[in-house]
Amino acid sequence: MQTIDNYNFKDKKVIVRVDFNVPLNENFEVADDNRIRGALPTIKKILADGGAAILMSHLGRPKSGPEEKFSLKHVIPVLSDHLGIEVLFADDCIGTQADEKSADLKAGEVLLLENLRFYSAENKVKTEEEQAATRKFAEKLASYADLYVNDAFGTAHRAHASTAVIADFFPQDARMFGFLINNELEAMDKVLKETEKPFTAIMGGAKVSDKILVIENLLDRVDNLIIAGGMTYTFIKARGGEIGNSLCEEDKLELALKVIQKAKDKGVNLVLPVDQVLADKFDNDAGTVIAPVMEGRSGYMGLDIGDDTISLFSDIIMNSRTILWNGPAGVFEMPNFQRGTVSIARAISEATSKGAFSLVGGGDSVAAVNKFGLAEKVSYVSTGGGAMLEYIEGKELPGIKAIRG
Ligand code: AMP
Repeated sequence: MQTIDNYNFKDKKVIVRVDFNVPLNENFEVADDNRIRGALPTIKKILADGGAAILMSHLGRPKSGPEEKFSLKHVIPVLSDHLGIEVLFADDCIGTQADEKSADLKAGEVLLLENLRFYSAENKVKTEEEQAATRKFAEKLASYADLYVNDAFGTAHRAHASTAVIADFFPQDARMFGFLINNELEAMDKVLKETEKPFTAIMGGAKVSDKILVIENLLDRVDNLIIAGGMTYTFIKARGGEIGNSLCEEDKLELALKVIQKAKDKGVNLVLPVDQVLADKFDNDAGTVIAPVMEGRSGYMGLDIGDDTISLFSDIIMNSRTILWNGPAGVFEMPNFQRGTVSIARAISEATSKGAFSLVGGGDSVAAVNKFGLAEKVSYVSTGGGAMLEYIEGKELPGIKAIRG
């Protein structure tokens, strides 16, 4: 498989799928440029070799056609700043400007195409008719360049025009991953394939249903599976505990019991919290009381793990060589219920400093390590929540398959 690091892009035009789906403030300025920075190594490599880059991305979820608030022109100032050149823009990703500007593009120049999702052909791929439109759209985009690079890990689980279909229009040695996707794959494979034991996964967040496939796949691989956050209570109720007003998915009680049994059968140490912080309302200023996890109270909801649980989890994490973390241990957005999540983040960074490999992924755990200033202290922070979860579920991601074949 062709890789970006050993390719020389001299005099080549490269169409790069990046993930510039960034948050904008009310003045349409980029509020968080993490994703833009994530794409820079790939763009810089192409330019440094003497190539030209045509960048394509989606931004937000436009319903039908162009909308000012979803225009990618808003990222130009930040992108130009990072690259130290004036980035060119085509106001329609397959319009006359895109045709002309891509044809005229010189070595060292960067052209950004307008939001791909202003065309439904980018991501509406259900019916045969839609798929035909998607192929045509992808072929048009492909016609702008000699090579295709996919560096948008966040959309790698989608079989869209720019993330997968377009690859068909390039020969095998003219399509490759960018540095970001390469790094993501390397980090996930280190956890799933080259695992140093003991391997601990910490699954938190709100719902069991969102994570169940991941949990099931992990049961074949991990030594310890720590369950935390709101999803705890479905397990606690299934085991006969009292949960009061805590989050619970009634239709998943049986599934929770199955997971507990499966863990036992496979010799996996499934660890649930032992104590909790109960709150009398869903509010940072709620009245609180600490209670054993099996002993919730009517009128109260569990919003964080307690001190005994923090010690229990921290010990396991600190003794692990491979760590995967997805989802917070409590309602960490509220300062009074962030202790558990902070402690997990700290334990992971400490284990990492002692040589463990740690991968943090999924929207909210990433937000947590960033919020607590610990992102630099874990081995890898994944940029793709949904894509990472699907990869760990064991699914083949269309954006990955399109290039790997
Ligand atoms: P997810 O997107 O599934 O990872 O869930 C993240 C959300 O779960 C965050 O917004 C947390 O506030 C929330 N969460 C974590 N623990 C709890 C809990 N014990 N009760 C209610 N919500 C929780």
